[in-house]
Amino acid sequence: MTVFASGAATDVGQVRAHNEDNFVVADTVFVVADGMGGHNGGEVASQIAVDRLAGIGLVSSIDDLVRGVQEANADILERAREQPEFRGMGTTVVMLADIERAGSHRLGVANVGDSRLYRVADSGLHQHTEDHSLVEALVRDGRLTPAEAAAHPQRNIVTRALGIDDKVLVDAWELVPVVGDRYALCSDGLFGEIDDGEIHEVLQATSSPQDAADELVRRAREAGGRDNITVVVVDVIEADPSEERSDDRVAGIHKALFGNVLGDAGPTTPDPRRDETPSGFVPPAMTWRVGLFTAAVLAVVIGVLVVVSAIGRSGYTVAEGDNGTVVILKGRDGGFLFFGQTLEVESDIDVDELPPVAIAAVRDGQRFDALETAELYLENLQDSNDSSGS
Ligand code: MN
Repeated sequence: MTVFASGAATDVGQVRAHNEDNFVVADTVFVVADGMGGHNGGEVASQIAVDRLAGIGLVSSIDDLVRGVQEANADILERAREQPEFRGMGTTVVMLADIERAGSHRLGVANVGDSRLYRVADSGLHQHTEDHSLVEALVRDGRLTPAEAAAHPQRNIVTRALGIDDKVLVDAWELVPVVGDRYALCSDGLFGEIDDGEIHEVLQATSSPQDAADELVRRAREAGGRDNITVVVVDVIEADPSEERSDDRVAGIHKALFGNVLGDAGPTTPDPRRDETPSGFVPPAMTWRVGLFTAAVLAVVIGVLVVVSAIGRSGYTVAEGDNGTVVILKGRDGGFLFFGQTLEVESDIDVDELPPVAIAAVRDGQRFDALETAELYLENLQDSNDSSGS
């Protein structure tokens, strides 16, 4: 069997009014969930997720983990349907759990969003999870360096989360438990403030997992604490001997399982949208998350997508029309922005009433391949205008 020692700490940080992170520390299950959404929706979503996952019971495969995450997703969607003020709430989830199958043990990992699982290795910190975030997609695509991503103003935009859709794509796989290994689960409030080198240093220098979690949270708070900070530290203190241990600990690759709460519980259809690199359309997750953000951030995010995907292509342009309202123009721009373009959609949004960043974006002209995407952008402008109350 596998026996763990663990510690956990969480803090609201220095800027946010609420702590929307939640965590689970149980005998064999460890979870961090970073919630988001207005009207306390973030707290509610991450609480629903940890409640569901804390009660996951005996786990015999990563399919059980995926099913648990999928049930948490369904719970969140159901609650949002019952209480409209929670519409749009969501949460990330990263979990580590003991798996027992035919008398042998593994560690199961499941991840959705931009919370992380690290393992302390001699060489440094090993990040087991991949961030499902806009900046990570841009890094993979070679558009940003990791250093640029770490400082990017839109680094907290996630491309996957629970609460968006009745299907949730879950990264899940098994690790070999090795005595002496230390894992850390955390929300982005940790690595957004202190770098991997410092996280590694604290995890190596602090023997008690509780003290390590406390110290990491304290440092992230002191470094700025711009977001909620949560850390769960898990030490493997007993494990069955294993003949298949390898340096990276990964035992079989089972990443990206698609859970569909409307279907039967079969969780293992590979997802065709596996590659989340922005490519000319706005993924559903992006529009959902965008809805939670201020108009200014929203305009910049869409702007980034547009810049990377659609510059210089024909298609549709969201721009300022002759009477000062936002319009969609159709047609190729022949090197001269509005040359040869025809009016496709007229809106009643006054450009002047948009937030400054959005005004600049619209006056520059935002180009899209598809009319639907241009209309989505227009809708987002409309929403941001409504919610800014101007
Ligand atoms: Mn966060």
